[in-house]
Amino acid sequence: MWHDSVLGTVGNTPLVRINKLADAVPCTVLGKVEFFNPGGSVKDRIGISLIEDAEEKGLIEPGGTIIEGTSGNTGAGLAITAIAKGYRCIFTTTDKQSQEKVDVLRALGAEVLVCPTNVEPDDPRSYYSTARRLAEEIPNSVYLNQYDNPSNVAAHVETTGPELWEQTEGRITHFIAGAGTGGTISGTGRYLKEQNEEITVVGVDPHGSVFHKYFHEGVFDHDEIYPYVTEGVGEDILPENMDFDVVDDFVQVDDKTTMQMTRRLAREEGLFIGQSCGMAMAGALQWLHDHEATLDEDDVVVVLLPDSGFRYLSKTYNDEWMRSHGFSESRTNVTVEHVLK
Ligand code: PMP
Repeated sequence: MWHDSVLGTVGNTPLVRINKLADAVPCTVLGKVEFFNPGGSVKDRIGISLIEDAEEKGLIEPGGTIIEGTSGNTGAGLAITAIAKGYRCIFTTTDKQSQEKVDVLRALGAEVLVCPTNVEPDDPRSYYSTARRLAEEIPNSVYLNQYDNPSNVAAHVETTGPELWEQTEGRITHFIAGAGTGGTISGTGRYLKEQNEEITVVGVDPHGSVFHKYFHEGVFDHDEIYPYVTEGVGEDILPENMDFDVVDDFVQVDDKTTMQMTRRLAREEGLFIGQSCGMAMAGALQWLHDHEATLDEDDVVVVLLPDSGFRYLSKTYNDEWMRSHGFSESRTNVTVEHVLK
């Protein structure tokens, strides 16, 4: 048995029980491990749907150019699809993203323009504006705009949601995920609530992003927006794909907690995952702890783990980087020599 192309291997990622880290909560906690996708992240799912939707709408012709502003993972998903279908890819990204992510995009044949992080979204230098401008200037090109394009949400309504429903045989009671474009939480949450409206959907936001405050107070507050280190999640805009109606609660996690939880998932569960996974798990465990009285052993909580640790080797998994950002209190990589001394 074989797949016609690498695209056939996207999706159907495993659910893995979280053991030690979830010891203190009374329910089953499962990770949906998205690094098993061929491009290494959940974003492979939308790589296919964004391009196929543009084809169906006649927005791109054979040999055309795909343009997108991407933190890296969407780019990998798009690049894989573009290779299978014969398109050129140009991506704009920010100088905050790890070098590994840019290297992956270039390895997959994409052209990458790195833009400054700390400028307003409507500044002509921002990665959003640069992507738009390129699409206007390059003939037979399409700017897919994962933030507002409904085929992002649709990919999760059609794949992630049904997979979780089938894999848990309808027993899932809670779905917890971070949000960037909002596609994952909105699409998966929508599908799950259509199956069982009792399912609780919880969003997790980094400190410095707008979603948490907007959810709780309905205010888009510029003063609350400040730079944070965690990649791929949180926003300084409200994307159309973020559907607050399917979310029941939003919690916030700081960078330090995120980084430490990321490393614990690797060391204590053997899950070598990325920063936003640590954030989602830290937010999930915090929420479950706060709502312990409402939970029992029949509850099945799924936490979405978006990508792989390979993209953060020079950051979260590097002791020097952790120390220089104040994210670790002590030596984390204890060597044999250190123990013998
Ligand atoms: N984690 C990572 C590492 C990501 O790159 C993204 C996408 N920006 C997300 C989480 C959030 O997913 P979504 O855009 O579907 O909300």
